[in-house]
Parts: sequence; structure tokens; C-alpha cells
Amino acid sequence: MTEPTLYELSSQGRPGFRFPQPDVPLTPLPEGFLRKDLNFPEVAEVDVIRHFTRLSRLNYSIDQGIYPLGSCTMKYNPRINEAAARLPGFAHLHPLQPVETVQGALELMYELQSWLAEIAGFAAVSLQPAAGAHGELTGILIMRAYHQSRGDSARTRVLIPDSAHGTNPATSAMSGFQVVNVPTDAAGNIDLAVLRTLCDATTAGIMITNPNTLGLFDQNLLDAIALVHQAGGLVYGDGANLNALLGVARPGDLGIDVMHFNLHKTFSTPHGGGGPGSGPVGVAKHLVDFLPGPIVEIVEEGDEDMPPLFGLVQPKKSIGRVKTFFGHFGMFVRAYTYISMHGPEGLRAVAENAVLNANYLLARLRSAYKVPYDRTCMHEFVLEGRWEDAPEVIALDISKRLMDYGVHPPTNYFPLIVHDALMIEPTETESLQSLDAFADVLLKVADEAHQSPQLLKDAPHNTPIRRVDEVKAARDLVLCCWVPEAESN
Ligand SMILES: *Cc1c(COP(=O)(O)O)cnc(C)c1O
Repeated sequence: MTEPTLYELSSQGRPGFRFPQPDVPLTPLPEGFLRKDLNFPEVAEVDVIRHFTRLSRLNYSIDQGIYPLGSCTMKYNPRINEAAARLPGFAHLHPLQPVETVQGALELMYELQSWLAEIAGFAAVSLQPAAGAHGELTGILIMRAYHQSRGDSARTRVLIPDSAHGTNPATSAMSGFQVVNVPTDAAGNIDLAVLRTLCDATTAGIMITNPNTLGLFDQNLLDAIALVHQAGGLVYGDGANLNALLGVARPGDLGIDVMHFNLHKTFSTPHGGGGPGSGPVGVAKHLVDFLPGPIVEIVEEGDEDMPPLFGLVQPKKSIGRVKTFFGHFGMFVRAYTYISMHGPEGLRAVAENAVLNANYLLARLRSAYKVPYDRTCMHEFVLEGRWEDAPEVIALDISKRLMDYGVHPPTNYFPLIVHDALMIEPTETESLQSLDAFADVLLKVADEAHQSPQLLKDAPHNTPIRRVDEVKAARDLVLCCWVPEAESN
């Protein structure tokens, strides 16, 4: 059963608002300003509240239970982050205020830039990009600007492992580069033998995700980075999986030249519909001048009597702005709060527990699901969602059946190199009880796949909408609120 829309709940003459008595003389609106064709629903306040509360209960969220979407790091969003972001001194700022009046906000941004640089081993960070994919675009444009500044125009190709997130090839292609696929070897690492043949004077760089999207620390990482550097290329790090490395290893120390952070993954700011996201970019020394601005810097050193003066600076050879104003400031406050609450030891514990949780789940599931690249995993792992002795069932059926048990499905069909991939990332915020409950459901569903596969094929059984036509949903996206039945055909 689908929920009625506000239009269907509408009842003529039942408004949900009341204007105050006017305290100015009434004047008729100029001709043409009154539109009769605006078809707004007429609903009382109580109807609106009930409508949206009902809809919100149909949503699944991290506040309800485990959200094991691999590669997305759907960790719990601590409420203290929200309290900090709502402090009037932060929440009520205007982006056009003179810098002297927003020194506290600039100091927070300055410290966040420095902390992210220290956490990941970079010389400088720009907080501008709006999300991970936007950070990738920024990073690739920085790589392009670097080669151009050296008059090196032959570098037209970006190498990308076949396990990469789709945003990697997309951002490279958008930046005018040719994308060259690098295969994964049998152990789940970058295939070094092939990479060696691909590195030459046309190589602008490589985009590496480490741990990769199989949830594995690439054992060939240092050799791969060295090969690309020897050929004169740069190394882009897709930082989406930084949660596995916090306080343990620093991408900058491993030789990565430029990387994005996903504050909405690693640093617990809201993700998905609760966004917006934030994708700061960190760079090694030789790329600092190309960062998008403005960057916050100390423009006047302080002394005992005067705090330092923070200002906004455009790096010398900057690729320009990639976002209006300063980026998503509210997310900076949340990530800053998260980092200060944890401190260095706490951040390391985040990574250690994320890796421990993933390995615990993997150990519980290994007997029932095939693990195509079976090594000690990092913060996530990939199972195969199909069995030879249950040939009708595919990964999608497993995910739909999980919904019947009130569990959010894992990532499906990514990475592309695993057939019927089920990519699972529990994060460190799940307890042992929660991990066990999730494992129990997955084991039960594996059992059902063999005993009564039709249960899976027909799932989900108790959601308001069963299976949607996903191709039509993607190709034929309807974003306007409601079209009367008669007009929709
Ligand atoms: C999430 C993710 C991205 C893209 O980040 P967004 O913030 O969603 O734009 C890129 N690469 C990997 C591996 C990811 O998991």
C-alpha cells in the first residue's frame, strides 16, 4: 500500500497557517503577480505533521540499526556533533561577514585543516569540496594543473584499478583524461606486471583506493606508487576508506600526492539524505600552490596580548574556487568536534575496532558465503551473493530478504570484479550484540536460499512497495512531487 500524498489529503478551505493582522496599509498586488495555477495542497498542521512522521517511519536510518553499506562507512553520528554545530556563534554566521568578526570560525577551519593534514600526512588541506566525488575532481584538476605548469602536455592518461569506485573514472574523464584500466591480481592487489607496462611519459597519474574496495590493504601499494612516480606521474588517493587507517598509517607517508577525505564517512558527519557531505583535499608539498582557495591561514602572528589573526588566502597557482564561500561549514564543526572528542588514541581505536568488527563478521559468515578474495580484511569485506547449489538466487534477492528482517542490505554489485558482490562494512560503532544479530540474519537467509529460495525471490514481503523497476527509476526519474493520475499517463 502506498502512502497518500499531501495532495490527496488536501481539503479545500483547510489551511495550515494563519497570517498575523497586517500592521501596514493594504495595497493590491501588481497585475500578474497573483498566480491561479499554483496548485498547493490545503492541509492542516496536524495533517502535515502526521504525514511526514508516517513517511519518516518508512525510512531506515543509522539511528535505527546497523547500516552495513560497504565503502560508505555509515557510522553513528554522535549527537555532540549536532550540539556543537547548532551553537549560535557558528550556526548564525553569515558567509559575507568581515573576517575580523568570524575569527572563531576561521580558527576552527584552520585547526581542522591542520588536523586532517596531520592525520593523513599531507602538507596542506583545502576544505572546499562538497563531497568525495567533488574532492576527486578537485584532485585530478590539481594533477592536471601541476603537469601543465611544467609544460608537460603529453600526460593524457590516468590509470585506474578495475576495483575502483565509479567516481574515479568519471572524474578523470570529466577532466579530459583518457582512463586506462589496471587489472587486479589473484590475491586482490593491483597487478604490478600489467601496471609496469602501462606507466610511461603519457601517464598523468594513478587513482588508488587503499584499503581497496575488496577491503584489502594492497600489498603492492608501495611498488605501484614507485612505478608511477618513476614514470613522472602523480598518485591520487581515494580516501573513502581512511577509517581503516586512522592513527595507524598515513597515506602521505606512503607516497600519495593528493587525496580526498570524506568527512561524512570517516569523521561521522551525516551521510546520505542527512547531508550535505564534505570532501576536503590534502596534498603533498609540491602541490600546495595548486589547492583551491580560499584556505585559512594565520595572516598576523599573535603574542601574549593578541591572538593570531586568521585570514583567507588564495594559493599562488590555485585551480580556483570549487565551491561557493568556504565549503560546508556546518560539517567542519561536526568533524572538528568528532576529532577533538577522540584525540589521537581514540582515532586509532576507531580504526582498530572497525577492522576487528569486519574480521569478526567475516569469520562468522565464511562458512555460509563464498569469499572470493579471502585474506584478513581491513574495515570491510566482499562476499559472493550466489551459490552453485541454489542457482536461482542472486545477490539482489539476499538483500531484499534482509529487509524482511528489518536489516539494511549491504552494498550490492560493487566492486564490479566480484560476481553478485555483497560488500559489508559494519564500522566500529556496532557492538558485539549488533554484529551477532546481523550475522544471524545473514546465516538464516543463506539457509533459506537453499531450503526455500522462493522466499528470497518474492522478498521484500512487508515494505509498502515491493520491488521497484530500478532501470525505470534511474532512467525515468520523476522528481516533482505529484502528478494527478489522469495526467501521469
Ligand atoms: C563514497 C566513495 C566515493 C565518493 O564519495 P562521495 O562522498 O559519495 O561523493 C569515492 N570512492 C569510494 C571508494 C567511495 O566509497
